[in-house]
Amino acid sequence: MSIDALVFCDCLERGALRRQPRPEWQVYVQSDGCRECAASDHGAIGAFGLWHETACHHDYGILLHRTVASAETIARFKEMTAASGCRCPVLEGRVLAHQPGQDEALESSAVDSLAMELQDLRKAVGHWPAEIEGMVRALEDLVACARQVNKPLVL
Ligand SMILES: [Zn+2]
Repeated sequence: MSIDALVFCDCLERGALRRQPRPEWQVYVQSDGCRECAASDHGAIGAFGLWHETACHHDYGILLHRTVASAETIARFKEMTAASGCRCPVLEGRVLAHQPGQDEALESSAVDSLAMELQDLRKAVGHWPAEIEGMVRALEDLVACARQVNKPLVL
């Protein structure tokens, strides 16, 4: 089981859509940053779904999607940080502890904490295996993206 994460775009908020939504769909932005429809009518929900797929130049409004780490990488990382005594509560407690099917969105304060944890890790661990470098890079990209659009990092 690997862990994936994404950041939704802000094209709706910026008015940068290809096509405007119909008012009756009652489009809003969910707490995880995704476009959603408040209408209860099935026809409207279906039409919203079709619109949402291609409403901007990001498929389904996904600005960045990264596979963060495989189960093997996570296990290796935990061994490494246990040995070095690093404390990464957001990274270990929220990102790497994520279970499929759980809704988890890191709010901006958690994204800031994660950014600090990644910085501290880079200082504490000089050299690490390529797959852990890949995991840290993916998280750094996601953090930068989330901060750029001021949206949560969604697991
Ligand atoms: Zn977009």
